[in-house]
Amino acid sequence: MKPTGSLTRGAGDAQGLGMTSQRARDRLVMRLREEGIRDLRVLDVMRKLPRHLFVDEALASRAYEDTALPIGHGQTISQPWIVARMTAVLLEGGVPQRVLEIGTGSGYQAAVLASLVPELFTVERIEELLRQARRRFRQMKIGNIRSRHDDGALGWSAEAPFDAIILTAAGEIVPQELFAQLRPGGVLLAPVGPSGQQQLVRMRAGADGVETEVLGPVSFVPLLGGLA
Ligand code: SAH
Repeated sequence: MKPTGSLTRGAGDAQGLGMTSQRARDRLVMRLREEGIRDLRVLDVMRKLPRHLFVDEALASRAYEDTALPIGHGQTISQPWIVARMTAVLLEGGVPQRVLEIGTGSGYQAAVLASLVPELFTVERIEELLRQARRRFRQMKIGNIRSRHDDGALGWSAEAPFDAIILTAAGEIVPQELFAQLRPGGVLLAPVGPSGQQQLVRMRAGADGVETEVLGPVSFVPLLGGLA
């Protein structure tokens, strides 16, 4: 991948069509509002954050379409709507202080969250994707993300407990170890189920066990075991 340029790349970008400009982001945010995203904090962050710098330059002109895009290694950067929805759900009931994300991928969801919460931790099993995401965090001077190359099913025990945990890859079940790293009252948000039948599920660690709420159908890449 070529160097991705600076945060201010936009109106005069390589495409010359403003496909990666502020206007393109404004249009995306307008569309997210039409599609039911109401949280102004989330919309504001997505209006500012340059999603085109989280994909390969060859795909930059498509970065503000509301669609998932390939990021290599068979993985995808999540669709903006789902990033907005999951972020808004995490902020319901107050801003979580320490958040763990499983599946760094491009780093976009992590960067959105890091703009809204004090401390963001993220784990990725594919080393090359993590390396690229870290470079983006550095370039964009995002200082409150800590990342780790590991199997996210194990969570990040040394940094637990977390106020919220978000999975951006779908397992048939939610790895048990993650509940152990959730603060009492904390929220875990995850796509769950086999390909084609996944549901976004919110789980709350209550006094009498885990309370589960199904939020609707989603489509994510699978949660895989082991490192790559
Ligand atoms: N949040 C990402 C979404 C990337 S797709 C973004 O905004 O771009 C999901 C990611 O989860 C992929 O990068 C995949 O490699 C990773 N993943 C899948 N199983 C994993 C596991 N067990 N541990 C850590 N990461 C995992």
